[in-house]
Amino acid sequence: MADFADIAADRQQQINDTALQARRQVVKLQPTGECRSPLCGLELDNPKALFCNSQCALDHEKEMRRG
Ligand SMILES: [Zn+2]
Repeated sequence: MADFADIAADRQQQINDTALQARRQVVKLQPTGECRSPLCGLELDNPKALFCNSQCALDHEKEMRRG
């Protein structure tokens, strides 16, 4: 049976994780008219689009995670 301190620590960890995710989502990319994938950079028809396709979005996410 877990004691209350352990439960509180778990709860705090969950809150930290959620806050981290929220902060990551707040840091939004600004559209530049070009695909923001570091591997692509293609010019986009939609000036508000960030990526030319979902693969580029994934590539960008990977780059961000790597730092
Ligand atoms: Zn692209």
